[in-house]
Amino acid sequence: MNSPSDDIDATSATRLRQVRERIAQAARAAGRDASAVSLLAVSKTFDADAVAAMARCGQREFGENYVQEGVAKVDALRSRWPDLCWHFIGPLQSNKTRDVARCFDWVHGIDRLSVARRLAAQRPGERDGKALAPLQVCLQVNISDEPSKSGVAARDLPELAHEVAGLQGLRLRGLMCIPAPAHTLQAQREPFARLRELQQALVAQGLPLDTLSMGMSADLEAAVLEGATIVRVGSALFGERSRRRPDA
Ligand SMILES: *Cc1c(COP(=O)(O)O)cnc(C)c1O
Repeated sequence: MNSPSDDIDATSATRLRQVRERIAQAARAAGRDASAVSLLAVSKTFDADAVAAMARCGQREFGENYVQEGVAKVDALRSRWPDLCWHFIGPLQSNKTRDVARCFDWVHGIDRLSVARRLAAQRPGERDGKALAPLQVCLQVNISDEPSKSGVAARDLPELAHEVAGLQGLRLRGLMCIPAPAHTLQAQREPFARLRELQQALVAQGLPLDTLSMGMSADLEAAVLEGATIVRVGSALFGERSRRRPDA
């Protein structure tokens, strides 16, 4: 008879295989190598056991949205799974940067210089006695130009990118976006293509950016077709989220 944890592992393995297959198919259609797209498993609202089940299936990159919940999971899992890579992908307020700088390996949602400066200053030089790499960061662009949405406006991106690229303690890797929902493949591709063009313009200005963090459960194919190097997938891996947990 199967134990409950065997069942979780079987479900996790099936979903992981399905998502990897979606990525592989889109990569084939784009003439890209699927290994150029990394899968970030977005575990927000799911507990440490759900993350451990995915880790047992071989998944290594995990994304969290809420500081308190994310830090608790990282701290709970770090000793048993020291090789997991943790990405903070949620909105980040200035008063919560210290925990993120300490616990996470990547931050995707930077859209203000003040937050970048705090993260840079607060990034520890070592963790558990070992030298710690700079925090890997992406700038979030408000690609659909929606009022009151997170992200730097495209016209303000170059200035922010050059400033952040100069901060010690951070390494600017690329751009991230969350477009307004769209329901055809073509409409989904347009904002992702714009993000790629913005990145190419920055590369042409001398910034060595290699990361496009774009695409979620509903639109990862469109993102891979437009050059995503990280897709951030939650519900297709962990199931529907029952609630949006407030970040107390
Ligand atoms: C929740 C979330 C995701 C994953 O969304 P799904 O639709 O569940 O795949 C990706 N990126 C960000 C920034 C998120 O907040």
